[in-house]
Amino acid sequence: MLKSCCVVFCTANKLTNYELKFYILSNKHKEPERRTKWLQAIRREDDQGKLWNPRTKHVYVCSWHFITFMYIILHFCQ
Ligand SMILES: [Zn+2]
Repeated sequence: MLKSCCVVFCTANKLTNYELKFYILSNKHKEPERRTKWLQAIRREDDQGKLWNPRTKHVYVCSWHFITFMYIILHFCQ
């Protein structure tokens, strides 16, 4: 499965952006709090306009967004 960034409007994927790293979203059962913070930072909505909660395990964030969101989480989500 091709790794691609889950952020809206981000087109980064492992095929065309091989220099980037792709970080997998935290597991729902192992790290629920960390996962929620990340989903809040990603700010993607589902069909009903609620906070996106992907069912697949294969959700990745590219290193551009990883750095941005890590900053947001560390400074604004404590
Ligand atoms: Zn991205």
